[in-house]
Amino acid sequence: MCNRFMHPLRVAVQWLFLFFTCSLGVEFYRFVLHCRGESAVFVPRPEGIEGFLPISALVSLRGWILSGEINPIHPAGLVIFLTIIGISFLLKRSFCSWLCPVGTLAELCWKVGFRLFRRNFRPPSWLDIALRGIKYLLLLFFLGSIMVLMAPGSVLSFISSDYNKIADIRMLDFFLHPSLLSLIIMGILVLLSFPVKNVFCRFLCPYGALLGIVSSCSPVKVTRNKSLCISCGVCSGTCPSYLPVMELERVHSPECLGCWRCIAHCPVHGALEMKLPGGRYAVPGLLFALLVVLLFWGGSVVGKVTGVWHTAIPLQEYVILSRDPAVRH
Ligand code: SF4
Ligand code: SF4
Repeated sequence: MCNRFMHPLRVAVQWLFLFFTCSLGVEFYRFVLHCRGESAVFVPRPEGIEGFLPISALVSLRGWILSGEINPIHPAGLVIFLTIIGISFLLKRSFCSWLCPVGTLAELCWKVGFRLFRRNFRPPSWLDIALRGIKYLLLLFFLGSIMVLMAPGSVLSFISSDYNKIADIRMLDFFLHPSLLSLIIMGILVLLSFPVKNVFCRFLCPYGALLGIVSSCSPVKVTRNKSLCISCGVCSGTCPSYLPVMELERVHSPECLGCWRCIAHCPVHGALEMKLPGGRYAVPGLLFALLVVLLFWGGSVVGKVTGVWHTAIPLQEYVILSRDPAVRH
């Protein structure tokens, strides 16, 4: 079956998920307005907002390992974090290229940049390698600080701290009232995202670095059939991660986003496929797309069914903590 439809399908999934994420953000904003007495309308807190708290989720994971219990402060955050790890383990970094809203906006930027400049710019190899190392250093910092160096007592006290309880509100305030320095940094990143592909994801995102490492174990990988390949170079040219797909038999790189761009653009049917080990079984594109969406959605269903989803923080505590001047300024 032709895989050309995979590119528009992925873009459709990306944008649907971006709108879903924005709707969560609006719901959460309205919840916070109510807590602060700025709106009489009560909107329940969407638990999915905890997906934006990966550091809290990492501390939760450590707390779970230490105590054997999942803390009830941000349980959905941990469920979403583990779901994304699971998806990366099975289906490469498909979360980055199919679902992550930052990835969607980054892709929009470099596509606009391509239209503006008629090309995208890639740093020289030595700089590209050095810059890509930043996200691994950040990952090492977070993993080392939280999973190794943080004392067990500190883990448990962080989880139950006021700071962690309203980490979501702090994050909202950070984006609603950014400091001048944050605005400058975000502005530079956005400006660079037009000429250079995936600046934040490729160079700075420690989450992406973690998912890349996990995705190395993924059973499915882009696989080239040497006997069918006509060495046209389209796959290498369309890869947003600049992987030399045409020169590889199987793409093992942690930079592979599982985006299917190379497969969708390959002009020879069967020359490039997403295959299981051994190269005998190719995963149909539609099945891959369905799995990405269903696994992500399934994670939240499992969380809800097992009671690991809703926060135990009472509304009254949110009301008190959200009005704390230390949070607001
Ligand atoms: S796009 Fe297809 S045919 Fe062209 S080089 Fe890549 S695998 Fe070979
Ligand atoms: S190798 Fe193919 S699937 Fe992997 S990032 Fe490049 S274009 Fe996407």
